[in-house]
Amino acid sequence: PRRYLIGGNWKCNGLYDENVERINVFNGAGAIPSNVDVVLCVPYIHIPMALSMLRDDIEVGAQDCGNNTGDGAFTGQIGAHQLKDIGCTWVIIGHSERREGFGMAGEPEQLCAEKCKIALEKGLKVMFAIGEKKEEREAGTTMEVCAKQLEPLAAILNEEDWANVAIAYEPVWAIGTGLTATPEMAQDTHADIRNWIKEHVSEAVANAVRIQYGGSMKGANAVDLLKQPDIDGGLIGGASLQEDFFNVIRGVP
Ligand code: 13P
Repeated sequence: PRRYLIGGNWKCNGLYDENVERINVFNGAGAIPSNVDVVLCVPYIHIPMALSMLRDDIEVGAQDCGNNTGDGAFTGQIGAHQLKDIGCTWVIIGHSERREGFGMAGEPEQLCAEKCKIALEKGLKVMFAIGEKKEEREAGTTMEVCAKQLEPLAAILNEEDWANVAIAYEPVWAIGTGLTATPEMAQDTHADIRNWIKEHVSEAVANAVRIQYGGSMKGANAVDLLKQPDIDGGLIGGASLQEDFFNVIRGVP
């Protein structure tokens, strides 16, 4: 059986003292079931604080990394080698907000795949985010969109790389909107993604890879999502800023 993977994505939220307080709340929030891996992706500048203050049974991750393979003249970038060096173990790559670009140039599919490869080479584990927009779901092209996001990844990774990759399926229309995919809808797409990996990577990888659901996941809907056979965890935004994150963690079967 696959271990569950619950990620928190704090996005660009919190001043220093506020995030210290959030970490204090998490530190006192009770036990984490033994079949769950938990990782918290905080803003870059709060990573050292989280690494020193956060309880040992939650790993610390970043929300992105550069596409540079080492030091160099890349103003503003944070390299995977630097994240690894400071003690991060995970990074999110290809979040829809970064693919979209929030007013700046967004990240194309090939770039996301390259960043993932670099992060793995530097020793990080990757939550690789994919997912369709509302109009794509409505047009019935959900799996085509996901496949297009997965293709460059499958092309660049070798079989061993996949041991350190989780796929975060995050339907864009469900992110931050309060609209969650129904458990059945999410399960169907997760099964399609697993099947795609079986056909384009290998059956062994398809069976082993963890596929997380993301998009308005919270304590109140986590149990029904997590009991689906192909849902192996979650990537939680808004609810991970609150103690409710622990209701998600304890919602695993
Ligand atoms: P919300 O949980 O706020 O919908 O965000 C999900 C997400 O984007 C996690 O990466």
